[in-house]
Amino acid sequence: MYQYRSLEDTIAAIATPPGQGGIGIVRLSGAQALAVAGRIFRMKNGKMIADVPTHTVHYGRIVHGDKIIDEGLITVMRAPTSYTTEDVVEINCHGGMAAVRAVLESALDAGARLAEPGEFTKRAFIHGRIDLAQAEAVLDIIQAKTQAFLRAGHVHLQGELSAALGGIRDALMEIYTTIEALINFPEDDIDAKSRTVLAQQMKAQEQKVGHLLKSADQGRLLKEGLRIVLCGRTNVGKSSLLNVLLKHDRAIVSPMPGTTRDPLEEYAQIRGIPFQVIDTAGILEPRDLVEQEAVKRSRRHMDDADIVLLILDTAKPLSTEDTRLAGQMKGRKVIVVLNKSDLPARISGEDVQRLLPGGPAVRVSALQKTGIEDLESALIACAGQADHFDGQGILISNIRHVQALKSAQEHLNLAVTLTQQNTSWEFVSEEIKAAVNQLDAVTGRNIDADLLDRIFSAFCIGK
Ligand code: GDP
Repeated sequence: MYQYRSLEDTIAAIATPPGQGGIGIVRLSGAQALAVAGRIFRMKNGKMIADVPTHTVHYGRIVHGDKIIDEGLITVMRAPTSYTTEDVVEINCHGGMAAVRAVLESALDAGARLAEPGEFTKRAFIHGRIDLAQAEAVLDIIQAKTQAFLRAGHVHLQGELSAALGGIRDALMEIYTTIEALINFPEDDIDAKSRTVLAQQMKAQEQKVGHLLKSADQGRLLKEGLRIVLCGRTNVGKSSLLNVLLKHDRAIVSPMPGTTRDPLEEYAQIRGIPFQVIDTAGILEPRDLVEQEAVKRSRRHMDDADIVLLILDTAKPLSTEDTRLAGQMKGRKVIVVLNKSDLPARISGEDVQRLLPGGPAVRVSALQKTGIEDLESALIACAGQADHFDGQGILISNIRHVQALKSAQEHLNLAVTLTQQNTSWEFVSEEIKAAVNQLDAVTGRNIDADLLDRIFSAFCIGK
């Protein structure tokens, strides 16, 4: 089991983000938290911090030696009902780096040690209040860029992933015990029918792991965003559409052909899902070196794209340029966007079908901001995850979890095959055990110190 050397220390850190703010918080945790706080905080009513009840807030002055450095509030949370399960004290002082730093320095001089990144959460884990998957959920919440991802972090924090893994683990342990009995009492070996049942039980657990893994792709999308590339010949309204999607003026919109030369990258959040939107130059025949470079970059963006929006100017008949661009769309997920639908249409549904058979097409007007909802729905549907994007379920987004679960799945598949092939039970048992170990790696039941340090070092100090 993981050994943590410095659990006796009382740790301190600034818990609020750097920069200006109304208040700043310095957090202390450990056996000496109340004693250290008593040395640096003078309560207005003259009482001693060591005497106050748990989960109470008090007003007073913060001192460094004999010097008053600030005034503020102190919150006392006694063990075991605190974030770390140790005695925890939070001192609210004035915001701004100078004020909080002064309070932190005072706490350090009074006997606390500066916390390592994530050490508060690490202590919560070591004391068994949360498991590793939950600790990592704290990190995800801190780093969450989008609402959907934030919700997924909350689900993990509530322990739903851990509960799901716990269920699979229990079932596997039951199978394991059965197999161990067969190894130890070979005279009781089971018939072919029971062997099949056992294989089915393993398969059922393998499928549950597979189900959890299915959410992994979605997790990546929520974390990193989906890459959408806007493509279309000059003046069809790419920049205008980009602006509408981003809901602010980012790209330069101009009636002069060729004003968008460089692909512009921006992040948009569409119904809680991050999208990286890239506007390409839309040049087919580069006239100079700058344009050549722009074309090269556009190609690269197209190659990396999750979805390409092929934008057409519906007020003009299809041109050879449109057809040539459509020719580059083979093997890509494409949505045809018929822009300028506020003007009389010169492109028909049949034209679009001929251009890109079977592809989804949406009519929009970037100018009048109509059809944008339809485009957003098409984007989400095209992402292939329309039903799952509610962000309510368990979502595996952490690469460490994905790898462990994939490995567990492989071990279980092998266990099923070995069972079906009448291989000796020792080998099956090995595979089941290996699968259980992988599940345990996710929740942190068995984890080595180095990995644990690496996980927690991704946290910010004060968390
Ligand atoms: P890009 O070269 O493809 O990036 O095209 P722009 O976004 O710069 O737009 C070219 C011209 O088309 C500008 O004058 C825009 O105001 C105009 N435009 C863009 N979208 C629409 C639209 O939906 N309807 C109409 N009528 N004009 C549009």
